[in-house]
Formats: sequence, structure tokens, C-alpha cells
Amino acid sequence: MTSISQELREFGTKLLERRGALVEWSADDEGSAMAPKELANLLHADGEIIRLSTQPGGEGWSFSLASDFLDTASQLLEMEPRVGAFRVDEMYLKRGDLETAVQRAFTWLNAKVRLLDTQEVRIEYHTWWFHALLVSEDRWETRFPISINAASGTVVELPNLLDLWEFEPHPGANQQPPATYQQAVREAQLQLRKMAAGFFDRMDGRLQRDKKRLREYYSALLRESHQKKTRGRTQPDPEKLAARERAVKLELRRKNNELDDRYAIDLTLNPIVLTRMEIPALAVELSVQRKRAQKNHTVYWNPLLKQLEPIRCSGCGRGTFSVAFTNDDVAPLCAKCSG
Ligand SMILES: [Zn+2]
Repeated sequence: MTSISQELREFGTKLLERRGALVEWSADDEGSAMAPKELANLLHADGEIIRLSTQPGGEGWSFSLASDFLDTASQLLEMEPRVGAFRVDEMYLKRGDLETAVQRAFTWLNAKVRLLDTQEVRIEYHTWWFHALLVSEDRWETRFPISINAASGTVVELPNLLDLWEFEPHPGANQQPPATYQQAVREAQLQLRKMAAGFFDRMDGRLQRDKKRLREYYSALLRESHQKKTRGRTQPDPEKLAARERAVKLELRRKNNELDDRYAIDLTLNPIVLTRMEIPALAVELSVQRKRAQKNHTVYWNPLLKQLEPIRCSGCGRGTFSVAFTNDDVAPLCAKCSG
């Protein structure tokens, strides 16, 4: 069993059990579920027994990406909350002076920076899980998380929070739709480019290969018509010859366009789930002096990473440890945006 079909089987089983079904797998790829009527109806089962399979086209509900599994699963998921809010009450926070930690972590490119104050705070981290699907002549898909410090808007690379520790549901969490979504999407698009680089290269490689074959084929055709001209006893009509060449070139262009279409990449990026996790952290307040202007900025010490988080660039929105500040607003900029 491949890991993806294993994952699908586990996921599908959990989904059914969650809705009150009793699931049993008699073989690796075959099983059945005894389901409440409502669930059985939703899955178009005749009675209350739903047959399960991990093969596409298997009987009953087929747990395979090549079937309508995702469509059916998403109908079941429609009924589930997709946002989970959790909290962790206590975590180890760094004690003492953070001055050295700040000086070590950051490079201040054009300003004097002084530490004013350090405070224990509670910060909500938003982890957006995305599903990405790339469709071209081939398909590629993945799912991955983007975590954002909701107070600073900075993207941070966190371990999977749900794997790690004892957390509790946080029913009192802010119910407002979070403002971190756009930032998460931007970051997800950037990361996806990197993750899918191999796929892009592969498609491009195949496209170049196919175009080369086409060029070779059509230039052979053109050569052939020229050779006929020199070997033939009667001179062929030059007009006919030119017309033939035009036709060949036109055909080549048409075939090239077909290839471009075939290898065009269609990209879908969708949020699947959001986890809001409130944890303790340290807020470090800094006074930034840039020429005549002065402004305070806050950076965060993260107890999971056991280090300071980067500052968010006011230009491109990415996190940076190498920071310049604008003259008037004293707004942080990464080296690239300030350059
Ligand atoms: Zn920037």
C-alpha cells in the first residue's frame, strides 16, 4: 500500500467513525462500514452497510484520488468546523536580559536600536494548511502549513503545533475571521514555487524535448521538398514550392501552439484548515533611532523556537533579521527592499 492510499484509508475511516459508523477492514483494500441512515443516504448506499475499497472503481465508496473520494469527503467535511482554536497556558520563557539575544539575532543596517522593555504576553499563531494542485500534462499535489504570528504578521516556521504538546481547546478565542489570510496566501504562493520547482522543470524539459522533435521533423520535410527541386528533370513551379513551404511552416507553428497548451500549468491553491493557537511569548520593545526620527517596534521571543522571530518588512511582507529603517516613518525594510 502506498503511503498516500494508507493516509486516505485512515482519513476516510476516521471521517466515517466521526459520523457514527462502525468501520471494519477485512483486507488491505476492502472493508465495510455500518452507518447511521443519514450517513448511508449521503453516500448513496442501499442499506446501512457501506462497502469500502481503496481501489479506484471498487465497489461502494472508493478511497482513491482517482475516484470521487474527495468530492464525497468534502460533502462530509462541509458539516465540520474548519477552524480549531487552542491554547497552551504555560511554557518556558527566557529569563533575564534579552539585550544580547537581540544584538545577536538582528543586524541593524542604518539605525541605532535600544531595548526598552520585555514583557510576558499571550500571542495567537495562525497556522493555515493549504492544498496545492498543479495540473499540466502530468499532475502534482501537496499540502503544507504556513504559520503567522497574528500580532506582528510575521511568517514563522513552527513545528506542527498539534503534534507537540498538551494543548487545550480555546472556546473563548476571538471568532473574527483572521486578518492573516492574505499574508498566508502570498507566502504559500512563494513556497509553492520552490516546492514545485522540480515539477516545473520536468514539464519544461518535456516541452523543450517535444518542440525539438517537431522542429527536426518539419525541417526534414522542408529539406525533402528542396531536394526534389534539384533532382527533378523539369523545374518545379517556384510558386508551388513557396506555397508548400508556407504550409509546412504554418503547420509547425500550429503544432507548437498545441504543445504550449498541453504543457501549460494550471495551479489551484486552497486553504483547508486553520489552527489558532494561543501561547505565551515575550514581547521585546525596541526604540529605533533613524536620523532625526524615532519609533518603537516590538519583536517576539518564541518559546517553541527558543529564539527571536524576524521583523516583518514593510515593503514585501517577508520576515528579515537584517533590517533597515525608512527615514520618516522609521518603518522596517529588508535588505532587498531598502537597496
Ligand atoms: Zn522586503
